Amino acid sequence: MKIAIKDIPPIGLQVDGFLEKEDFTFDDEDIKCLAPVFVNAHLECIGNVVSAKASAKANFSVLCGRCLRSFEKEIVKELAFYYDLDECQKHIELGEDVRQEILLDLPYKVLCSDDCKGVCLVCGIDLNEKKCSCKTTI
Ligand SMILES: [Zn+2]
Ligand SMILES: [Zn+2]
Repeated sequence: MKIAIKDIPPIGLQVDGFLEKEDFTFDDEDIKCLAPVFVNAHLECIGNVVSAKASAKANFSVLCGRCLRSFEKEIVKELAFYYDLDECQKHIELGEDVRQEILLDLPYKVLCSDDCKGVCLVCGIDLNEKKCSCKTTI
């Protein structure tokens, strides 16, 4: 989402678009971006400063740290950026800044639900689905 500064009118500019899911790839295969990330932003240019209020919505598949099942996690972010323009600057790269913010926010250690029961340490059964009769007094 490259935005030309000259395209921002005095009343501001509303833009929306998608960031490709290929832009969100990870060494860690437990995290996957499931769909293009929707970004919607309002830009204003005052003097040499462009301000952008953006919201982004992303869907990731992540792994529960307790039961090790993957589940879908939606990330919704409200963001604000300020760009101090230098004289020869013609564009701002909003998409890249949004991308960085989402990456910062990604939950690497998450639970599928607050009361996830996890897996039995003895037999490995998923305790959210079944009960086992192991004695877990380890
Ligand atoms: Zn879980
Ligand atoms: Zn068990």
